[in-house]
Amino acid sequence: MQKSIERIAGDSEGVSYEFPVFRFEGADKAAPSAYLQAALHAGELPGVVAIDALMPMLAKAESEGRIKGAITIVPWANPIGRAQYHFGEHQGRFHLGTRTNFNRGFPLLAAPDTALFPAHGTPDQQLKARLLQLSLGHDIVLDLHCDDEGLAYLYVHTSLWPAMADCAAAMGVDAVVLWSEDSDGTFEGASIMPYQNVPADVARFDRRVATTVEYRGMLDVDGALASSDAEGLYRLLVARGVIADPALPAPGAFTGAVAPLENIDMMPAPRAGAILYDVKPGDRVAKGARLATIVHAPGETGGRTEVFAPQAGLILTRRSRRIIRSGEDLLKLVGDRKSADARSGTLED
Ligand SMILES: [Zn+2]
Repeated sequence: MQKSIERIAGDSEGVSYEFPVFRFEGADKAAPSAYLQAALHAGELPGVVAIDALMPMLAKAESEGRIKGAITIVPWANPIGRAQYHFGEHQGRFHLGTRTNFNRGFPLLAAPDTALFPAHGTPDQQLKARLLQLSLGHDIVLDLHCDDEGLAYLYVHTSLWPAMADCAAAMGVDAVVLWSEDSDGTFEGASIMPYQNVPADVARFDRRVATTVEYRGMLDVDGALASSDAEGLYRLLVARGVIADPALPAPGAFTGAVAPLENIDMMPAPRAGAILYDVKPGDRVAKGARLATIVHAPGETGGRTEVFAPQAGLILTRRSRRIIRSGEDLLKLVGDRKSADARSGTLED
């Protein structure tokens, strides 16, 4: 394994950003290769500790000559966001300088060709270009995030499903959300779009994997979860031939929920106030079930507003904080059919 340091120039003198990249050289040039990154949203740490737990497993495989495909790992993908504190609170989701989400604005290339990259830009744009450059060319690209509070789930482009069902089973996630359009330039979109209109021998959809992994919630940074998530990542790498491990059984069928993005109800809050949730991630709800009560005028007649499920489904996520403004989303309900409020466009990660 080799460690190198990437440097991103800041936009003032004396400021620059660094992050480490770890590379395992594969023994077989024909074997699938893998790229893993975590904490693109810099405060989302379940993937960081999962990678920390995975590294000794990779080191052991390397010492035994079982790493077949090249593996590139970026455990802390966002040194810019990692350093952003605003009035004592960490702000890892948006770049404070440009107000741009760190997981938006990736270049959507017409082909997997790094010569098509924009050469300059703000530090966050340079970081995005560099991360995409590091990842392009790998058959398997995993972007490890987490939600606010939630189940473990994946975003997967429709062109890769159900071919990626073995990956979802290997990782042991609870749900898969399928998406088809990315106009905003998420990292996942930028990882898959360059392969949509190229010859089949370049696209290689038979072995391609690209996904945004949502490892539950912000507070699910836990040793036991990190170990089980690392085992899931390892099973995926074995199942897809990046690592050889004949002792490991092949993943079974994926038994979690699978739904298109348009089936998700986000439940914008009708009023601002304090949220009393009736449901938590993992709950199944019937149409009309109460999801939450918003206390907007405490102690006053009519000071509570209830929110009900518009359709039956699975509670995928909810907010970790209990204060909400009107119009902000209360939760993600994965419905059995298309949401009447389906948001067009990108995955919400
Ligand atoms: Zn995220």
